[in-house]
Amino acid sequence: MTFQRSPNLAHLKSSETVAISTEAKRRKAAGENVLDLGVGEPDFDTPALAAEAGIAAIRAGKTRYAPNVGIVELRQAMAKALSAMSGGRAVDPERLIVSNGSKQSLFNTCFALFGPGDKVLIPSPAWVSYPQIVHLTRAEPVMVPGSPEWGLKVSVADLEQHRDEHTRGLILCTPCNPTGAVYTRTELAAIAKWAVEHDIWIVCDEIYRRIHYGSGPAPSLFDLGEEVLDHAVVIYGASKAYAMTGWRIGAAYAPPEVTKAMAAMQSHTTTGANQPAMWAAATAFGDPGVDADVERMVSAFRRRRDYLVARFHDQASGVEFIEPHGAFYVFFRVDGIAPGLTGSSFCERIMREEGVALVPGGAFGDDRWVRLSFSVSDAELEDAADRLMAFIGRLGGKLAAV
Ligand code: PMP
Ligand code: GLU
Repeated sequence: MTFQRSPNLAHLKSSETVAISTEAKRRKAAGENVLDLGVGEPDFDTPALAAEAGIAAIRAGKTRYAPNVGIVELRQAMAKALSAMSGGRAVDPERLIVSNGSKQSLFNTCFALFGPGDKVLIPSPAWVSYPQIVHLTRAEPVMVPGSPEWGLKVSVADLEQHRDEHTRGLILCTPCNPTGAVYTRTELAAIAKWAVEHDIWIVCDEIYRRIHYGSGPAPSLFDLGEEVLDHAVVIYGASKAYAMTGWRIGAAYAPPEVTKAMAAMQSHTTTGANQPAMWAAATAFGDPGVDADVERMVSAFRRRRDYLVARFHDQASGVEFIEPHGAFYVFFRVDGIAPGLTGSSFCERIMREEGVALVPGGAFGDDRWVRLSFSVSDAELEDAADRLMAFIGRLGGKLAAV
């Protein structure tokens, strides 16, 4: 029988970030000397305390269906952790719903909030899955280009320019994948005020919140008033700060009726998250012993970030890049390095000629750029930076400082 895609999948493309990391893993397994700076996941092992809690849960027979919205221990631990990061503000565990990774939380959120005829604003460049998920809801993603003078972030004026009477939502990501830019509290407050004024849902993906190079966690919607949280869904999860990508635990914090709608959806799709993984995550969020591990990982990311930024300044001073304030990515611009160069051609050539996997900016909506993920060991990063700088030098000759 011939397969014809359902109209549900009219816009569907598979994830380029996932594809690049699969390809890099394949090459490595085949014995090639490939440095994978494409993948967006921490290179660290899950903190031992959390991993042990997952193992203990299996041994204790906590292997059956769990409550669809998540075990209460995890919701409480997460609420407490979110509260502590925002000066002890009230965070209601009942408003949290746990899913199989924050990707599912985002999917549930968008499905609950948006549908045909709606438009959803997405600051661009944007993580690959946002426009895809919005398309799956049959709403229309509207990309809002960020401003180059402002770390490719958007302002209220940029958003207002793209708003019309169909605009129902905005998906923000801070710290941002792919740029590493972080919205300040003042910027978030201004955007939130605008969204509340125009009855626009803010979906704020804060999965990288603890990977922040300023002091403390990155600013959050949880730092703003209750009225903002009544117009928002905050996405959080264990994958990044706790190095738990494979456990697949994410969560959404939403107004009660939205949480309820998502719970109903989830009751027909995944019946909630994996139970042993939820116990592991409850320890990750709740056990103060895990904090030292998170801090060790964040300081390693900070060291690597400083190292790379210095290498860009010293050896590729003509190459524009966003200095990351959070997450573990450097987003740099390649179209000025050599005539006709695009993110895709740069990535294809550096993989072939230097064995370095990177992600073309086209995956995030702007192929003048390339994303580098510095979630590799210090030694690998140094090797990759040597290869990258040599490659840029070869392409562009000696780049003049701008
Ligand atoms: N949001 C952003 C911005 C991400 O980079 C990722 C990483 N894949 C996710 C959400 C999803 O993470 P997970 O499903 O592992 O929680
Ligand atoms: N978020 C990561 C990335 O951007 C993991 C891959 C994915 O889920 O897209 O590379």
